[in-house]
Amino acid sequence: MMVNTCRVPGCHAPRNPSQLMCLTHWRQVPAELRHEVWRTYRAYKRNVTNATWLAASLARDEAIEAVCPTLDDTYTQGEFSFGDTHE
Ligand SMILES: [Zn+2]
Repeated sequence: MMVNTCRVPGCHAPRNPSQLMCLTHWRQVPAELRHEVWRTYRAYKRNVTNATWLAASLARDEAIEAVCPTLDDTYTQGEFSFGDTHE
């Protein structure tokens, strides 16, 4: 079984499979942005399209950038995932 770790680069803390990052980092994300991450993620789950995927990806990257200002640009090229890869 795959161990889920925080999506923030350099952080190897475990996270809940349904969460984007570890609780410590998640709490550092502005509330508005956390809300946006969930809103776009739910929209993506309800209706998987390029548009909802993109919106969810952007919100995810924004949240990660919010807690990791030195984020490497190449990071965002990864596949969209909150850990639940068996959709
Ligand atoms: Zn973390």
